[in-house]
Amino acid sequence: MDIKNFLEKEPILDNVKDLKPTVWINPDLKYGETAWENIDISIEDIKEADKRLRRFAPLLMKYFEDTKEYNGVIESPLKRIDKLENKIKNGSEFEGDLYLKMDSHLAVAGSIKARGGIYEVLYLAEKLALENNLITIEDDYSVLASESNRDFFSQYTIQVGSTGNLGLSIGITSATLGFNVIVHMSSDAKEWKKNLLRSKGAIVREYDGDFTAAVSEGRKESDADPNSYFVDDENSKTLFLGYAVAALRIKKQFEEKDITINEDNPLFVYIPCGVGGSPGGVTFGLKKIFGDYAHVFFIEPTHAPSMLLGMATGLNEKISVQDFGIDGKTEADGLAVGRPSGFVGSIMKPILSGIFTVEDKKLFDYMRLLNETENIKIEPSSCAAFEGPLKLKEYELSKNYLEDNSLNDKMKNSTHIIWATGGKLVPENIMQEYLKTYL
Ligand SMILES: *Cc1c(COP(=O)(O)O)cnc(C)c1O
Repeated sequence: MDIKNFLEKEPILDNVKDLKPTVWINPDLKYGETAWENIDISIEDIKEADKRLRRFAPLLMKYFEDTKEYNGVIESPLKRIDKLENKIKNGSEFEGDLYLKMDSHLAVAGSIKARGGIYEVLYLAEKLALENNLITIEDDYSVLASESNRDFFSQYTIQVGSTGNLGLSIGITSATLGFNVIVHMSSDAKEWKKNLLRSKGAIVREYDGDFTAAVSEGRKESDADPNSYFVDDENSKTLFLGYAVAALRIKKQFEEKDITINEDNPLFVYIPCGVGGSPGGVTFGLKKIFGDYAHVFFIEPTHAPSMLLGMATGLNEKISVQDFGIDGKTEADGLAVGRPSGFVGSIMKPILSGIFTVEDKKLFDYMRLLNETENIKIEPSSCAAFEGPLKLKEYELSKNYLEDNSLNDKMKNSTHIIWATGGKLVPENIMQEYLKTYL
């Protein structure tokens, strides 16, 4: 691919190519109703997904002890991190209140993938169970745990390609409900994730190439079996809606904590991005609810800026980081994606504010910062989000964004959310190694 044209049109792509941390501001961001002109997913679709998840609450409580705290609803705390905030206010121009959305500690799968991944498995289970008269929509779904119903599910196989956490989410949920499950993983997936999956009864297949190769092999194997269902991380609207439900829930958490979001009190959200599905779904929900008052940024590793390249060139899934001479290799295993989702990229075009890139070495610094100030441990991929609030006022382009959107005098009233996307299931010895890692 000849990339010269792109470099001429979008100067920050020089930084991206040179692996320099940078920010890209989306020139196609739209405001008000015009943002939604070409998007055919509605708030009603998100509400329906939320209701479906609630129908499964009794079954989830039966199977997963850690879902009981929220009565079978898989949700994470929104935590004020004022000790960390004070620390960064000392060394940067950061203004506003800082929160951590702890999807790192979601029940069942310990990552943001517990939202979309579990939702898609439940969606399929409900569809099969309704079509075959195992339940009606009014029933208590815990009957699905009976031996005969589990036998029914065991006729079906669910398959997925994953860098790790989606595999954990789909694998654990599918196997627990009684499905057969095959997880196709890239070679850079962490060993402990593969072992955990095998211990739950999932079949793990490994591929030498990256995530994209694992997905295409998985799809091929699944398509060859009429009783197999492939969870398509790159194109699934179902996954996307599962992630979007987060926005309905966070709206309630804001109300409970007296956090106001309006014209004078803007919301900034920073989410690590791999293929784009989970941050994209969350962003979609947030923008549906908070509209122009929400400013959402993705963060990607300098070695895997796939969504940035897809959106900045407009080529979406037709461009890979390798086309830019970038290797796609990063310690952030959850973000090690060379080619973005085109489905997500096109939905993000009118609603995403921008994308930061972060160097791997910073992930470990941020991890220590969070652990030392707040005593919270999250995985390296998850730590990418810290780059957003810390760099917002460092780059000329993001400063211009604040200026252009008349945000400067509102920053003291702003709320900033660092979306912690994973960590709970990381074995303690590996967490300790991460904390001692200096790149
Ligand atoms: C998967 C993942 C992401 C990014 O999600 P995508 O849907 O791939 O964009 C971020 N952080 C962690 C920890 C993840 O597992």
